[in-house]
Amino acid sequence: MPYRCGENCVPGALLRKMSVPVSKLSFWGVRGSTPTVDPATWRYGGNTPCLELVAPDGTQFILDCGTGLRSLGSRWSLPAAGRNPETHILVTHYHWDHIQGIPFFMPLYAENNAFHFYSFRSKYLGRDSLKQVFETQMAMPYFPVDMSAMCAKRKFMEVAAGETITIGENKITARELNHPQGCLGYRIETSAGTVVYATDNEPGDAKLDASLRELARGADIFINDAQYTPEQLATTRKGWGHSTWLEGVKIAKEVDAKTLVLFHHDPDSTDRMVDGLLKQAREEFDSVFAASEGMVITLGAAEGRMEAHMPGTRTALRREAQFRAKVSGVTENGEEFEEETLVRDLSLQGALISLHHTPRLQSELQVTMETPGEDGTQAMKLRGYVVRVDTGAEKGHSAVGVVFTD
Ligand SMILES: [Zn+2]
Ligand SMILES: [Zn+2]
Repeated sequence: MPYRCGENCVPGALLRKMSVPVSKLSFWGVRGSTPTVDPATWRYGGNTPCLELVAPDGTQFILDCGTGLRSLGSRWSLPAAGRNPETHILVTHYHWDHIQGIPFFMPLYAENNAFHFYSFRSKYLGRDSLKQVFETQMAMPYFPVDMSAMCAKRKFMEVAAGETITIGENKITARELNHPQGCLGYRIETSAGTVVYATDNEPGDAKLDASLRELARGADIFINDAQYTPEQLATTRKGWGHSTWLEGVKIAKEVDAKTLVLFHHDPDSTDRMVDGLLKQAREEFDSVFAASEGMVITLGAAEGRMEAHMPGTRTALRREAQFRAKVSGVTENGEEFEEETLVRDLSLQGALISLHHTPRLQSELQVTMETPGEDGTQAMKLRGYVVRVDTGAEKGHSAVGVVFTD
């Protein structure tokens, strides 16, 4: 796990006490199809889909139960520590990458917790589809203990495509997506904004394309499947049930979504490849992020703004250093900047840089450093991506974490 827990741990009760109503969306798994441990996928992360959303009224949601669920479980605070004992888990469908974290989710083995699971009735399984899926997954000889070892309270609810339900003060709408064996997209309307989660969907079915647009209309955060390139989708990957960054941009523009999040990265997509998809998407649409393990998006923060952070740190390999450097990049508002600063905490992978400007998360940064050489100082040019922005660390400065790509 490249990120350590930061604001991810804020329990519902604490959030409720905050004066401004905010929704906090944390990304625990963003990889599609199968987990990856390839170092080339380290930066965006290798765990399969799992998101956590804490609404302003304290309602806790988990979206999908991929391998990212294990990491969420290991940072789960006890109800006594202020966490709401009840959690609502919305599952999109029954493919491995969306259910595989369940047996390893430790809060299910603690009797003080209560979980409400929601998903659709599969025509292959009939009644209690999701319950059957979990039981089968943990049946012998696939797993050493069966579901009866889970002592947390569990309830299973069916949601039909097109149905809207209310949980706490939040409105949840489910719609069918175009994916083999079916899949649900979810729209969650909270008092701090609307999140639409539409992973595992392929464009090309007129009725479902229109339905996805209705689901995503005016969303503050629109999370869309971006597994393939437009070229792949047109050729070798047609019919596999996934989408592209370009399709996401097209929908986001049509439905007036505020921020697009590219999700369900292909296991064969390296960090560099995802950087490339994100770059192309940002040329076509203002506010785009590529989902990344550890990313936290706060909705409804100051003046209705959306903020994205990566609260974790990865300082283990860094050495303290003092290099004069010229840094150029793009701010959160899309303006180009250049400034001189000192680079500290340098490693082969990246650096921590103090800047007056606040560069956009996941934007490209050029760093030209003066390094002592045999014939005086030499300029070393590096290109990297902003993986972390901490605006509160020093007055007037942002502490900016950069990972160098070359
Ligand atoms: Zn999937
Ligand atoms: Zn799937």
